[in-house]
Amino acid sequence: MTDHRHNTETTTAGEPYPSDEHSLTVGNDGPIVMHDHFLMEQMAAFNREMIPDRQPHAKGGGAFGHFEVTEDLSQYTKAAFLQRGAKTEMVARFSTVAGESGSPDTWRDPRGFALKFYTDEGNFDMVGNNTPVFFVRDPMKFQHFIHSQKRRADNGLRDHDMQWDFWTESPESAHQVAWLMGDRGIPATWRHMNGYSSHTYMWVNAKGERYWVKYHFKTDQGIKCLTQEQADRMCGVDNDYHRRDLFNAIDRGEYPTWTLYVQVMPYEDARTYRISPFDLTKVWPHEDYPLHKVGTMTLDRNPTDFHSEIDQAAFEPNNMVPGTGVSPDKMLLARVTSYADAHRARLGVNYKHIPVNEPKVPVHSYTKGGAMRIHKTADPVYAPNTKGGPRANPDAYPADNVWEANGSMVREAYTLREDDGDFNQAHDLVSKVMDDAERDRLVSNVVGHLCGGVTEPVLEKAFQYWKNIDQRVGERIEQGVRDHLNAR
Ligand code: NDP
Repeated sequence: MTDHRHNTETTTAGEPYPSDEHSLTVGNDGPIVMHDHFLMEQMAAFNREMIPDRQPHAKGGGAFGHFEVTEDLSQYTKAAFLQRGAKTEMVARFSTVAGESGSPDTWRDPRGFALKFYTDEGNFDMVGNNTPVFFVRDPMKFQHFIHSQKRRADNGLRDHDMQWDFWTESPESAHQVAWLMGDRGIPATWRHMNGYSSHTYMWVNAKGERYWVKYHFKTDQGIKCLTQEQADRMCGVDNDYHRRDLFNAIDRGEYPTWTLYVQVMPYEDARTYRISPFDLTKVWPHEDYPLHKVGTMTLDRNPTDFHSEIDQAAFEPNNMVPGTGVSPDKMLLARVTSYADAHRARLGVNYKHIPVNEPKVPVHSYTKGGAMRIHKTADPVYAPNTKGGPRANPDAYPADNVWEANGSMVREAYTLREDDGDFNQAHDLVSKVMDDAERDRLVSNVVGHLCGGVTEPVLEKAFQYWKNIDQRVGERIEQGVRDHLNAR
């Protein structure tokens, strides 16, 4: 018997279509009847295809792959997926921060570097960036920061004046702004950039000993960047340049890889280290805490449905596994609640039922109900119970990823340490890490940005901000802007 259903178009309920060209009308020239549910379903589904953009990190792309541990880290963590020889399936999403979902990939912006590992102990997510630091260190300022980078209320335009106004009123941004205005502010492709956890996290070994760690995913393709001119040109040629590059590379069988390194700080060091180890605007200099190799991440499979596999991928730093944990980094502590909340708002309370977000281990959760619930709930629906329902198992999974804290509740900054100045590490980056040619490009990038609509008194504040980072670089920026304005 011929299988007529094979390749026959159907409704979402499986009913075969009588026509995919003609709606149902009263006579050939008459009106469309309202009960043409084939047409109605198509129109209704189309009207609902778009879901809200992420706020921020709306524009991105991603791929699937695996992560393989090559080194022995058991002295630092008991996490199963971080033991030598472990191989874990994963998904990665890269993105810009400020632009909407159709915006150009080559705008100057940090890049999101979000990873989800489907480990044997549940999902582990790292929601990092391609930069090791961030603009602010307290989550009270995060929403204001993003507003200042996005669009104005009145004309709906992005505005360099408000960007620099925020930055210069927030000197803790200097390190990240110096990084952003340098070469790495526009990666050539996502394959050619590093990814950093930026935050400090915790690791716990089998003996219950704790360490603070920072993750560094270093690209094996080598760092490559675009100049401002190359990036500007690309905006007019291919808005989706980075998304296309990753997809095509994997399609060609050129699988990008990153080597994971970690910096490890013994737990007690954090009390006395000269730099606040949880301040997101600071790195740990390598000479204090060198990199330890961990393993390799390989991306080797493209999505087949971008919407369900990449756009609906929900990364959240609260996804942790035994042997890992968070730290007193205030930004991280806020993200631990804010990300899951953002996913509930954008995708619905049962977003973890979307296959890309589902762990690959059995879930024994007492959550129930809610819109778009897919998995069946089983009795008992409460704990504790005498009906054989799942129980917490603190013997096997102790609450060991914790730290001590005491003191009165305050609304104040981190306690200032010896080397905690806002401009120190920005100065090191500009004066010691960058060479003359990169410093020239930095000056040119900042002058171009400031000449793109920044007005007094913000302009004067920006000159001082750069002089605080590096006197000579600040003077050159001021001169460059004044020359440009005088030439008008
Ligand atoms: P190091 O000399 O040990 O490290 C310098 C780091 O800078 C390297 O990791 C290098 O990455 C990175 N780098 C090189 N060029 C640029 C650039 N144009 N923009 C951004 N990063 C660049 O010095 P320290 O560890 O003492 O750090 C000095 C400064 O380097 C810091 O203030 C910080 O701005 C920057 N940095 C430090 C990192 C850290 O974790 N310590 C990480 C990244 C940057 P690569 O080896 O991949 O080329």
